[in-house]
Amino acid sequence: MPGLNDGDSSLAVPFSEGSSLIAIGWLSVNMDYPKGSVSKSFFDTLSSHARSAWRPPYACAGFHDCDLCQFGRSSARHGDHECGSSSNSELFIPAGDRIYVSPMNILHYIGAHWYQPPPEYIAAVEACPPQRSAAYLKLLLSSGGRKWLKSFDEPPPGTPIKQANPNT
Ligand SMILES: [Zn+2]
Repeated sequence: MPGLNDGDSSLAVPFSEGSSLIAIGWLSVNMDYPKGSVSKSFFDTLSSHARSAWRPPYACAGFHDCDLCQFGRSSARHGDHECGSSSNSELFIPAGDRIYVSPMNILHYIGAHWYQPPPEYIAAVEACPPQRSAAYLKLLLSSGGRKWLKSFDEPPPGTPIKQANPNT
């Protein structure tokens, strides 16, 4: 799977086109990505978001395996959290005017491959209410989530309107 630069909006998430969803941490072996250390407290906060992540109204937007690892899949424990190199779900961090979307293995990219997310993402994670709390859902909706989630209820553009059959 090709990577995405941080801030890209062409996510493989349903109805993300034209929404406030922004990619963070979609790394791939053939791309340059920012490297550096992050604070342990940020990593712990991100882990706790991942542990209780809010789930969007679709089953799975695709698997995302780490191709930076040289040999197959790996997994590491950080405290009581298991960070695997592959992921089949996303982590949503609402930030007021945007929603950051990462593969769940962003923790693996940070822990194993020294990926350093941009400061605005780190600030958003630290300010984000606990996943699935009322405050989180409120922030998600006001950060563009209301419009995005509404897309799931509407027929895609170009869908013909059903008309009554005149022969019955
Ligand atoms: Zn890896």
